Amino acid sequence: MRDWTDRFLAKIRDSEGGCWEWTGHIKPNGYGQVRVGDRKHNVHRLAYEVLVGPIPPGLVIDHLCRNRRCLRPDHLEPVTQRTNVLRGEGPAARNARSTHCVQGHTFDAVNTYVRPNGSRDCRSCNADRNRRRRQGVTRAPARQRPSLAAA
Ligand SMILES: [Zn+2]
Ligand SMILES: [Zn+2]
Repeated sequence: MRDWTDRFLAKIRDSEGGCWEWTGHIKPNGYGQVRVGDRKHNVHRLAYEVLVGPIPPGLVIDHLCRNRRCLRPDHLEPVTQRTNVLRGEGPAARNARSTHCVQGHTFDAVNTYVRPNGSRDCRSCNADRNRRRRQGVTRAPARQRPSLAAA
């Protein structure tokens, strides 16, 4: 294992912000990749495991510096997928940073429901939706509902 570790470390260069940037192969998603034997690894995960220790099962590596090429151990932190999504720049993360839902209800601890994918739901809006759905169902006469048996 010794020689690939040396080759691996030789492909790291210091960069702005104190990052250690990977100069080897970069995948289209922006993360570095390295081949060890016949297996391909994400370099930031590999660097963490080599330099720090095993990544706990189920956790992903978050770049605290937001530089995907970086593999400096103290710029990396193992977190749950949900934390990673909330810290990122995707729609779920932007949504998570807003303080009110589209109807103007406050996203506070009581009114906010966090879905398993990390996005948030407004409990007030949900309650409104459910109320309308229930009313809609009780008002609709049974004979007007489409019947699968008749088709
Ligand atoms: Zn970094
Ligand atoms: Zn709402």
